[in-house]
Amino acid sequence: MNEQVRTPSDAMSHDQLLDRLAEVTVRVGLGLRQGQEVVITAPLDAVAFVRRITEHAYKAGASLVTTLFSDEEATLMRYRHGHDESFDTAPAWLFDGMAAAFKNGAARLAVVGEDPSLLAKEDPDKVSRANRARSKAYMPALSLIADSVINWTLVGAATPAWARTVFPNDPEDVAVAKLWKAIFAASRADTPDPIAAWEKHNAALHARRDMLNAKNYATLHFTGPGTDLRVGLADGHQWAGGSNKAKNSIIFNANIPTEEVFTTPHKDRVDGYVTSTKPLSYNGTLIQDIQVKFEGGRIVEAKARTGEAVLGKVLDTDEGARRLGEVALVPFSSPISKSGLLFFNTLFDENASSHIALGQAYSKCVRGGGDMSEEELASRGANKSLIHIDWMIGSDKVDVDGITQDGRAEPLMRGGEWVTS
Ligand code: ZN
Ligand code: ZN
Repeated sequence: MNEQVRTPSDAMSHDQLLDRLAEVTVRVGLGLRQGQEVVITAPLDAVAFVRRITEHAYKAGASLVTTLFSDEEATLMRYRHGHDESFDTAPAWLFDGMAAAFKNGAARLAVVGEDPSLLAKEDPDKVSRANRARSKAYMPALSLIADSVINWTLVGAATPAWARTVFPNDPEDVAVAKLWKAIFAASRADTPDPIAAWEKHNAALHARRDMLNAKNYATLHFTGPGTDLRVGLADGHQWAGGSNKAKNSIIFNANIPTEEVFTTPHKDRVDGYVTSTKPLSYNGTLIQDIQVKFEGGRIVEAKARTGEAVLGKVLDTDEGARRLGEVALVPFSSPISKSGLLFFNTLFDENASSHIALGQAYSKCVRGGGDMSEEELASRGANKSLIHIDWMIGSDKVDVDGITQDGRAEPLMRGGEWVTS
């Protein structure tokens, strides 16, 4: 990036930019409808941003905004002092309540800003049990989100612990300011007209999605250093990207930012080996240089330079945890990739790179999938699991071919960039 170029963000105060991001979150992310309730989850350190979001939500006609704040110090106390059975416990009552709110029409907003290495030094077994209990209890609420029954979105907030990880050599206040700047840029909040910028961006993602849907490839073939992977796509798979329509008919952007087009792989048709191109920050553990081998859709070998024990536990969550639930294409020239930053947060890092996800598939990425039974979805190749974990496999050294239904290879990406415009 050229430091000499003045961007609109230089002329705007932090408060103005925060306000714009809050507006983008409510209008573009949630597409909030007049009279809707909003359920927000957020870290304590994001309170100033959450207040801005709350203001914009009420201005947009929200009937009630309810925020559940989380405290990382309290999370650590559980690991320090909690009894063993604590790690198999989750607040099912809370998640059932959230599911009830969604069924009653509430929108869902998650503000993310966790310390990426909060649980790095904790017992992987306890971390895995706690995550498993949580995932299980969260399922009734998560399925309403994953199936886009309601409008929902994720947005980032620069917290001190997260900022220290991204900018370890800066004093905390400088690191937080730098991280906010990166979030504003990635979320297009620093453009002259953020809402118009998002409309243009959504149109570009929709064009890419439509091209891939017209092609209806059988397989994507990734090649690069340490990677030769064939990802078969689900029968009747459908590509998604940019804004989409929830079952409550509201147009929303599930992630702020987003740069990906993505679809459902076939759970039994993934073969070859693949190497991660960025570290994966998973619930407080950094898993780096993942290398896995697939046979018939299933991971049969897995190693990692760091976090291998946690990765192993993740893969053992259930049968579907060893299979893919998503494949996504992101050009290397995406604004987040160009920032050159490693965010240690999947919301941002997955949008810097093509990626795959272990675990649960999105039913909306199968044609007619929203109305299918679990058996029907499985028969098309859609995977099922308690987890959905994205990890990055794209770089400027990775090529992607689309393999047509009659077996011809067509170049899709070269050196990390789209071949077709
Ligand atoms: Zn993705
Ligand atoms: Zn994903």
